[in-house]
Amino acid sequence: MSEICKTCGLPKEICGCENIAKEYQGEIRISVDKRRYGKMVTILENIDPDSVGDMESFAKELKTHCACGGTIKGGNIELQGFHKKKVVEKLRSMGFTMGQ
Ligand SMILES: [Zn+2]
Repeated sequence: MSEICKTCGLPKEICGCENIAKEYQGEIRISVDKRRYGKMVTILENIDPDSVGDMESFAKELKTHCACGGTIKGGNIELQGFHKKKVVEKLRSMGFTMGQ
């Protein structure tokens, strides 16, 4: 017997919930903000926690990819520095659909 998806009630091999959740991540907004003393911060907003799994490790992967520091703030991820291009690249490689 295969495992049944709790969301849609279909067997896990044919359900598309995880893919749907990732596609929905096309809605992740990436912006760059200039903070005090001219410091740049790359902010990821509108993250659906269901599609990233664990926020802590998701943030860690991004920090490793961009080789920078960062924090999780109120459901958003803030990375130190200007990393817009790298973040988009990384999210695409993780299977997220990105706009632009
Ligand atoms: Zn499902």
